[in-house]
Amino acid sequence: ILQALEFADKSSEINYNKDTVIHNPQIIRDVLKICGHRYKIVPNPDKEVEVDENKDAVPSPPSPPEALKPRPPVVCVMGHVDHGKTTLLDALRDTSVVDQEFGGITQHIGAFEVKLPSGDKVTFLDTPGHAAFTSMRSRGARATDVVVLVVAADDGVMEQTVESIRMAKEANVPILVAINKIDKPGVNIERTMRSLAQHGVICEALGGDVQAIPVSALKKKNLETLVEALTLQAQLMELKADPGGYVEGVVIEALLDPRSGKQATVLVQRGTLRRGCVIVAGTGWAKVRVLTTAEGQSVQEAPPSTPVSVLGWRELPAAGDQVLEVNSEKRANEVMKWRHNQRMKERQAADLQIIEAKEAAHKAEYHAARAKKRAMGRYKLRPEGPRQKMIQEDTHPTLSVIVKGDVDGSVEAILDILETYDDHDRVRLDLVHFGVGPVTPNDIEIAEAFKAVIYAFNVDSPPQVNVEAKRKNIPIKKYNIIYKLVDDVKDEISVRIPKRQ
Ligand code: GDP
Repeated sequence: ILQALEFADKSSEINYNKDTVIHNPQIIRDVLKICGHRYKIVPNPDKEVEVDENKDAVPSPPSPPEALKPRPPVVCVMGHVDHGKTTLLDALRDTSVVDQEFGGITQHIGAFEVKLPSGDKVTFLDTPGHAAFTSMRSRGARATDVVVLVVAADDGVMEQTVESIRMAKEANVPILVAINKIDKPGVNIERTMRSLAQHGVICEALGGDVQAIPVSALKKKNLETLVEALTLQAQLMELKADPGGYVEGVVIEALLDPRSGKQATVLVQRGTLRRGCVIVAGTGWAKVRVLTTAEGQSVQEAPPSTPVSVLGWRELPAAGDQVLEVNSEKRANEVMKWRHNQRMKERQAADLQIIEAKEAAHKAEYHAARAKKRAMGRYKLRPEGPRQKMIQEDTHPTLSVIVKGDVDGSVEAILDILETYDDHDRVRLDLVHFGVGPVTPNDIEIAEAFKAVIYAFNVDSPPQVNVEAKRKNIPIKKYNIIYKLVDDVKDEISVRIPKRQ
């Protein structure tokens, strides 16, 4: 192990001895690789990574009701493929560029806001389909308030429509239906609603409580009505958040921009994100330097339900990570350290599992080797040495065989069968050598010494070996069916049975 350690940790100056405590999991892994997992390596319980349970950042306690203010809904668009999710999002994004003078180029930051003339807003997650919904739900960071279920009126309810309904219901997120492609001739809105009802989505027109808005994403028809319906839904749900206090949110997407560097979109869920705020998210943290909206506008602050692209990350977080504000860079560093240690701990536990699995595999290997040894004993495999002499002492008629096979399994299977012919009272079957791989010059040598027959199962013998075998009059018998090989052995035995007088 010490040698393996020195090898695994070439760059280190450490002189390893038996008291050295190793923390680096990579080195432990390498040592394991080298040592063939013959040792059980466990983390030293006295030297475990110290974790202070109180050092992670945690969300603030709930705000008092009077601090809560209405916030826009966060909406995710779902539905069957080709029913118009992307077209709808594009159309909505276009309408979101209110201030054309400003430049009016929407950036893809993973989410955008649509503003109504009334001042009401709706935030749309920009990735259509299940992916956005599920990734935002993972790690408990539920970001979606309403699912807009897009159903093409010409196609009706399809497989992924049903799937989307199931997912929304499971997550307890209300659905608003956008019946799309109403510009197409001959579409039947009512039929679409009826088939939705069969799947438990009962629209208002059919006496239920689900709003259904007929739209044409392509012709940008009725989109404002859709957004209004969403704001109404938000009011019904009494969506509120505290714009004060520490910021909480979720990372919508994170990327390394070639020009601006580490960049991540944060959807603020509580508090107000401002320049200068220090935030942690997963294993990333930032001192917010620049906040940019999907319209490319630099803003000073982002209240709840606002998606903003954030610059200032020291380490990038991952999409779905929970964002929490902390009070200083020092605190952010502490949190990062805590989380790093926590990860190391988890990794250690995972490593231990791997070690145990490998140990089990090693044990199995050991037992197989024992079984093989036992088999060798049964066949009286002779030790290395003056074989010629030994065989001359034995006057009993003997069939000596060498078995070569393609894999361990086949060789073992053959040995198992041959075992039943062992200790034959008239002819002794003597397995003088066996192994995996083609017939080798060494096999020929052994065969010559023992006057053995070589059985090759599913393996070949190189031409020079054949020549040598022929010269020494050693039979190499090739088979690829076990019972035929065994039959041949039986024939060879019967040939050697002494004739009764
Ligand atoms: P997605 O797979 O759900 O994102 O569907 P897309 O947005 O890619 O739309 C699929 C096809 O339907 C495209 O050819 C769109 O142009 C077309 N489409 C989308 N919305 C409408 C609509 O309102 N009316 C018509 N006639 N076609 C539409």
